[in-house]
Amino acid sequence: MKDGAASVAVIGGGVAGLVATYRLLQQGHRVHLFEAGASVGGLLRTFEIGGERLECFYHHLFTSDGAAVRLLDELTLLKTVKWHPTTAGIFYNGRLYPFTSTVDLLRFTPLAGIRDRIRLGLLGLRLRRERDASKFEGVTAIDWMRRNAGERSLRVIWEPLLRGKFGDMADEVPMTWLWNRIRLRFSSRDLLSQKEVLGYQLGSFGVWVDALVKLIEALGGEVEMNAAVDRIVSENAKLKVETIGGSAHTFDAVLATISNKALLRIAPRFGEEYTGRLKSVAYQDTVCLVLSLRRPLTGHYWLSINDRSVPFLTLVEQTNLVAPERYGGRHVVYIPNDVTRGSSLGQMTEGELAAAYLPHLRRMNPQFDESWVEERWLFRASDAQPVFTLGVGSRLAGHRTPVRGLYLANMAQIYPHDRGQNYSILLGERAAAMIGEDLSPRDEMLPPSGLDPIPAPFPPE
Ligand SMILES: Cc1cc2nc3c(=O)[nH]c(=O)nc-3n(C[C@H](O)[C@H](O)[C@H](O)COP(=O)(O)OP(=O)(O)OC[C@H]3O[C@@H](n4cnc5c(N)ncnc54)[C@H](O)[C@@H]3O)c2cc1C
Repeated sequence: MKDGAASVAVIGGGVAGLVATYRLLQQGHRVHLFEAGASVGGLLRTFEIGGERLECFYHHLFTSDGAAVRLLDELTLLKTVKWHPTTAGIFYNGRLYPFTSTVDLLRFTPLAGIRDRIRLGLLGLRLRRERDASKFEGVTAIDWMRRNAGERSLRVIWEPLLRGKFGDMADEVPMTWLWNRIRLRFSSRDLLSQKEVLGYQLGSFGVWVDALVKLIEALGGEVEMNAAVDRIVSENAKLKVETIGGSAHTFDAVLATISNKALLRIAPRFGEEYTGRLKSVAYQDTVCLVLSLRRPLTGHYWLSINDRSVPFLTLVEQTNLVAPERYGGRHVVYIPNDVTRGSSLGQMTEGELAAAYLPHLRRMNPQFDESWVEERWLFRASDAQPVFTLGVGSRLAGHRTPVRGLYLANMAQIYPHDRGQNYSILLGERAAAMIGEDLSPRDEMLPPSGLDPIPAPFPPE
């Protein structure tokens, strides 16, 4: 530890918390990470299937995920990431359409007129090239698409995506978010084949998480699992962190990497302004059914379900990205769903979800039979999808909270980006740098930290 090393608590052992812990230790501080769960990884946690680790929620990297690539390189693990061309499909009105190339788009008959299809293709190119986010602020994705893509494209392509992901709040999602998401997906395409190229780490992304934990421990960091923080108390210019288990420790600084809602439950009062910012982002929970099948299901890695008679939005066939041999010959399918807290889907048991979902798989592959299912798992996560609504860019909560020494770095601050390990890595690094600056001796001359300005939106990579 360097002279004058400070003590820092990090709450949450997901990507942001682990990366922040590592960077703070590298700065020479003492760091104690509190994780509520029995293992670290957060939304990137893994389980075992056929002798291989696999993420509980599907995960891949885009070629533009610069921060993730840099970190994996630093950990000498970049060679373990394999980049695969993938294919995608759309299930609409009871039929599965390939949707990977321009030819697929031109053949996409749910857009009845060729003019609509060409318009959609040109729109994709325009959105991919556009770099000025301000053009999309102040207008909802649904209104923008209605005007620019046309009513039919809106109904067939965009509205199902937005409703499936954000539920009742879909009407309020800004175009900036959708534009950014379209750019991200296009940016990962191979120019010649037009196929999306996605990265996956051999042995799962749990490999880099484990490597980071080893480095954290080697630098003297403490990683405590099953340690849900119950309360943060401001005490004599320090912060006391109390866990549900009854332990209490005092720190010079605390970084929370948990959701806005979770922070509000455990933190001291912030005052109206900051509390209002925290409350301005709503959340969806995630439920994800994972199936191990005897046979392949769709032929695509990514299937968008744009048919609202199906009770899920996406079907991700992992073994169309990674060979089934890695999973002992099993074919692995994820059926994730972002759900509103208290909704019927969100409360279903694994058996009930399987009963609701499986009959629809036969519509996607008429040969599918429930006897193909060898094993099923259900994973859930609270506050797994922040919902951004119009004007959110000016309402984001800053990383420095009004409580001196208490910082926040979470997925609600990455607007206009969608959740992704890349942005959680950036969050962890950004927060660690900020805390390091505030803890450095020269900053002791500065006035107590108040609200920092709204975090700069993450620059597109
Ligand atoms: C369905 C799904 C699919 C995804 N697909 C991809 C993908 O393909 N590619 C990609 O890059 N990213 C993907 N992501 C996003 C990625 O998983 C997240 O961006 C990233 O893992 C978030 O990390 P985090 O540290 O910000 O938050 P989290 O992972 O949510 O970590 C927060 C941690 O805090 C802990 N915690 C909460 N409360 C407390 C408390 N009181 N005390 C102590 N600990 C607490 C939680 O247990 C958790 O471990 C996906 C996410 C989901 C849900």
